[in-house]
Amino acid sequence: MSQELLAKKAELLMTLRGQGINDTAVLSAIETTPREAFIPQPLFHHAYDNVSLPIAHGQTISQPYIVARMTAELALTGKERVVEIGTGSGYQAEVLSQLCRRVYSIERLRPLLVEADRLLAQLKITNYTSKLGDGAIGWPEAAPFDRIILTCAAPTPPYDLLDQLKPGGILIAPIGADQNNQVLMKYVKAENDTIEEETLLPVKFVPLVSGA
Ligand code: SAH
Repeated sequence: MSQELLAKKAELLMTLRGQGINDTAVLSAIETTPREAFIPQPLFHHAYDNVSLPIAHGQTISQPYIVARMTAELALTGKERVVEIGTGSGYQAEVLSQLCRRVYSIERLRPLLVEADRLLAQLKITNYTSKLGDGAIGWPEAAPFDRIILTCAAPTPPYDLLDQLKPGGILIAPIGADQNNQVLMKYVKAENDTIEEETLLPVKFVPLVSGA
């Protein structure tokens, strides 16, 4: 990696710490994941800017702070089976793969999934399984999951997905039908299956497109 990118990566990690990300496992997963591989080549120099960037098909790769924050909120110990809705570039899946037992990721756009699968294979990630489909219905054959993460915004709380969460599990999702009025929500399922919810922060994600 170029000196320029290395310096920018070091600066990004400092910024994330300054923004309150103090989970060292999350920071080291961000450090070892080559974000430059997941973005369009012309944007190479911006790989370690703390901003979201466009990827193919009008989708986006989230801001590193948001990836770090969502990952930290999942409180991973290394033992979990995690499902991600919205594979996109595969960047978030790659970060998760370093922190949990297995990542399942669902994407509705085939070209994005093909490219993400290729990249994760090239990076020798062996605890990643993906499928093409509508993530709104989850992955019933692989459920229940310890953790669920949506990287596209659901219009309303995703009850179908919460049904696929184990007791004690955590679901993190941007919620809001209007892109200018979304919040990142955290849902924790208690042992008796009741759901506690917490509003984390305002966010801006591409929408979850379901059905049709
Ligand atoms: N996690 C990605 C960011 C993805 S952007 C990354 O790290 O790069 C959100 C993605 O969600 C887009 O690729 C979009 O196609 C996908 N998406 C939207 N609705 C979906 C649905 N119903 N099921 C699966 N994927 C969906």
